[in-house]
Amino acid sequence: MQTLQDRKTEMSDQMNLFQMASAQFKKAAAVINLDPSVEAVLSEPQNEIVVNFPVTMDNGTIRMFRGYRIQHNNTNGPYKGGIRFHESVDLAEVKALAQWMTWKSALMGIPMGGAKGGVTLNPREFSEPELRRITRRFTYALGNNIGPEYDIPAPDVGTGPREMVWIMDTYMTMYNASDRNATRGVVTGKSILQGGSLGRDKATGQGLFYCFEVWAKHDGFKIPGSTFFVQGYGNVGSWAARIMQDAGARLLAVDDHTGSISSPDGIDAHDLAAYVKAHGGVKGYPRAREISVPEFFATKADVFIPAALERSIDIENEKYITARYVVEGANGPTTLEAEQRLLARGITVIPDILANSGGVTVSYFEWVQNKISEVWELERVDMELKRMMARTTEHVLEEIKKRKVEPRIGALSLALSRIEAAHKERGIFP
Ligand code: NAD
Repeated sequence: MQTLQDRKTEMSDQMNLFQMASAQFKKAAAVINLDPSVEAVLSEPQNEIVVNFPVTMDNGTIRMFRGYRIQHNNTNGPYKGGIRFHESVDLAEVKALAQWMTWKSALMGIPMGGAKGGVTLNPREFSEPELRRITRRFTYALGNNIGPEYDIPAPDVGTGPREMVWIMDTYMTMYNASDRNATRGVVTGKSILQGGSLGRDKATGQGLFYCFEVWAKHDGFKIPGSTFFVQGYGNVGSWAARIMQDAGARLLAVDDHTGSISSPDGIDAHDLAAYVKAHGGVKGYPRAREISVPEFFATKADVFIPAALERSIDIENEKYITARYVVEGANGPTTLEAEQRLLARGITVIPDILANSGGVTVSYFEWVQNKISEVWELERVDMELKRMMARTTEHVLEEIKKRKVEPRIGALSLALSRIEAAHKERGIFP
């Protein structure tokens, strides 16, 4: 079966991910007449850290790994962004993801900047002790390039609370015992026992839902009784699906790295999440039938939530999509050309920097809780998240109307205007 990875290399849109992110940025910069000096500053990341580090494998051999930490901008606060473990991680990908993080923090009004990191590896090929040693050695190699007041990683594809706790623990050992607790906030997305926030695991899916709820109401679209399909059934996809289902929508099809499944009667999102946890993917799920990738994209449903990797919607498969909404759970899932074609066909694309910003928002809540040694109730986390997602979604809808632009450019225009204002106040040193 053709995988997303095959599709990525076949796609006709041959830009690398950073070129794609830069093209989106330039388009929005032109719309708001962004000051050329601010545009120049934001066009490249401030720091690009590449580390090659050795790790002992279970069989005693030593293997080299390459890791990245790209710090795009910290005008509004510490660099912030996930760490990805995936075989396709490269400099261009991490640079794009870091830039998107800057836009996301600014859009949400979070006092943080943008960064991203990753290690080029397939985590499924390593044992847990090997992954632990890789994560710890990567953290050690990054050294003081991260820190709770400087650059704060979080989970992304292929990483989760387990890896965040390993990073936190390794980072802490670099400090005197009396200072260690103050460094707990070096990462977010930790386990609850280690200072993680309630609601962080579901935050991106939950935030996507809160955003879509406001957008749907604005359009007069009813979520209860609607249908949807999801690509990627990891953290973002599975939580978005469960929350959509709990709100009365029906999940019709799912695609992940193991295959695609569908059921016209609906797939129970909670039951599938338990199956994926036990089996590592959707393949073989007994209460749905296996389908091809084109059949998956052609699913007749109201909403499509891409929540796997970037550029999964390209001009090859865009033509199959008939959904009314594409709500981007993943970062950069839609190529530029595919997006223009979707928009031309009247399909609304709710952009990643808005739709998936619930993750960074609750990461920010976690960082605040660590700073002041508080533990917030889940209800408080959800309420604050809902308030911020709803407010930002409304602002983006207003911006789209005011500037008469497509949704992504509306969201980007707002984010860039805020960063521009901050840059202008501070000026450039010296
Ligand atoms: P994850 O590792 O939990 O899940 C990734 C999913 O993508 C898995 O279901 C996997 O099977 C699927 N996938 C991987 N390779 C694939 C392939 N070749 N074909 C089809 N499916 C494939 O990752 P996640 O944290 O859920 O992240 C998913 C997306 O959401 C990424 O773009 C990430 O950057 C973005 N995102 C994540 C967060 C977060 O809080 N975790 C926040 C914002 C955005």
